[in-house]
Amino acid sequence: MSYSLLVMKFGGTNMGDAAAIRHSASLAARSIKEGIKVVVVVSAMAGVTNQLLKIAASAETGDIASANDEIAAMRTRHFTAAQELGAAPDSDTVREIREMHETLRQAVYGVYLLRELTPRSRDLIVAFGERLSAPLMSLALEGMQVHAKHVSGGEAGILTDSHFGNAKPLPQTYERVKDRLTGFLSAGVTPVVAGFMGETEKGATSTLGRGGTDFTATIIGKALSADEVWAWKDVDGVMSADPRVVKDAQNIEILSYGEVMELAYFGAKVLHPLAVTPIKESGIPLRLKNSTDPDFAGTLVQPEPQHIPDRPVKAVTSIKNVSLITVTGAGVLGVPEVIASVFTALARENITLLMVSQSSSMSNVSLAVPGSDAGRTLQALRSGLSSELNVEEQNDVAVLAIVGSGMRGQRGVSAKLFASLASSGVNVLMISQGGSELNISVAIEGGQVDTATLAVHQAFGLGRAAVSG
Ligand code: ADP
Ligand code: ASP
Ligand code: MG
Repeated sequence: MSYSLLVMKFGGTNMGDAAAIRHSASLAARSIKEGIKVVVVVSAMAGVTNQLLKIAASAETGDIASANDEIAAMRTRHFTAAQELGAAPDSDTVREIREMHETLRQAVYGVYLLRELTPRSRDLIVAFGERLSAPLMSLALEGMQVHAKHVSGGEAGILTDSHFGNAKPLPQTYERVKDRLTGFLSAGVTPVVAGFMGETEKGATSTLGRGGTDFTATIIGKALSADEVWAWKDVDGVMSADPRVVKDAQNIEILSYGEVMELAYFGAKVLHPLAVTPIKESGIPLRLKNSTDPDFAGTLVQPEPQHIPDRPVKAVTSIKNVSLITVTGAGVLGVPEVIASVFTALARENITLLMVSQSSSMSNVSLAVPGSDAGRTLQALRSGLSSELNVEEQNDVAVLAIVGSGMRGQRGVSAKLFASLASSGVNVLMISQGGSELNISVAIEGGQVDTATLAVHQAFGLGRAAVSG
């Protein structure tokens, strides 16, 4: 296929140091030299986002010395990369990196003085990772005779709501991004957009949630009606399981938008859970490709699923650190009333619900929520529910899900899932199957999740050995 416009996203590993950035730039430059217009979207250098979160937390607790030490180390890392990419000490890039660290230091000092870290100030601080890596990518591209210009997410036109930490693009975003980036492209300039962030109508920096650079790339893909969005990864695309857990995991050639969303929602870290939402309507394909093997097709994400005979399940995923919260005593009030008040309380707090299950005879409702939301969930339920109801929490749970559109109408899939869990000694705490039959998820003890993942992966024949043998 011949392309005229591609959006290319490079993640943290692909921006890890000067050599990785140079390699990423060469992948973009290769297409640009073939006459394809490319918008480059970058993540922070590997580890920097976590480092910034740590800096913000240190400042909040009053430990400004260690926050400043970390900022200094970050600055050295960015200076070193800039220098290795050919920037002179008095160059614009080095000056820009120095100024950004100074602004970061001031923002962190503000948090320290107030001893208060709001979601808004955390977003301002954490977005520096991408703002700092973008100039490095421009530098690398310029070194390859590609005329490049880096911009922040806000400058690229991404306008979001005010859900700091998990913001979503507002509808005007798409026209704005188109206006701003088309100008660069028609002037023969390759835009390098700092991923993960946007800005609110008031001009405050917001972030799109962890892994949000994938989301930035698809937002831009939709805005520009790109031919495709390519997310370059350090793996062969979406795999049949987390390759760090299952050595035998293999690449999935084709996935539908729906399948990849389920996978991402149920823990496959390879893609932001909302990344396909902007491109779903227009049907723009998304490819996840391995930067170390650029000619390998990777995973193609497209509107329709591919049906593979005898392979109803395509992947197994898991989310660790989940809490199970059970509301009992519904007999007193009636299950519908309890469910209504539980959901109202959760919606008010904007809590991610992973699973829900209800048992009439026991008059209880169980919820699986991310461990990080458990405290807020308990608080919301205890203050929002009748005092006759009892709310209990079980920690250290995991949710394991099998995903694949071929499960629809297929008998025996759950039987195989439960048989494989039982034979590896895994106890099931809760079960749920979505109406779309795209996934079946089970809650299990946290400590058993890797054993369970391996067993399920094998039972459904998802490994490389199963295919070649
Ligand atoms: P990037 O910074 O490029 O977005 P991430 O680290 O966010 O990269 O995501 C890629 C990582 O996701 C892989 O290195 C792999 O360890 C992990 N991962 C977890 N589950 C899967 C899966 N099902 N398929 C591929 N990778 C997965
Ligand atoms: N740097 C951000 C993160 O680590 C965004 C991204 O990498 O996509 O979550
Ligand atoms: Mg990611």
